[in-house]
Amino acid sequence: MYIPRSFQLGSRTWRVKILKDDQFRTHMHDTDRKWDYENPPRGLCDPNTQIIYLHRDHLSHVDMVHTFYHEVMHALLFSLGQFSNKQHDETTVDAWGDKFAQIMSTMKGENQLE
Ligand SMILES: [Zn+2]
Repeated sequence: MYIPRSFQLGSRTWRVKILKDDQFRTHMHDTDRKWDYENPPRGLCDPNTQIIYLHRDHLSHVDMVHTFYHEVMHALLFSLGQFSNKQHDETTVDAWGDKFAQIMSTMKGENQLE
């Protein structure tokens, strides 16, 4: 399953950036976000720039895909009016992202109208 460079959500185009560890740290520093050395973030969803960041050095491809869909769920909630990520329930976001990733990765066949 691939991770897109961008996608459309409402009237906005969201971009996806996959960063190495040092790039991710720099981004976190530049945007005044805390860096937990023992538990570095896997991804980040920035509603101000409409960019999803994925932290590639600590993730397998499968985990990166799941992190992508987790962050997409945050983007969806932002687009539905939950403008602060403090409003987002991480457990629900994670569960929905996981199920969405499963749907996207198991879709088969194109249904044709007859
Ligand atoms: Zn989250």
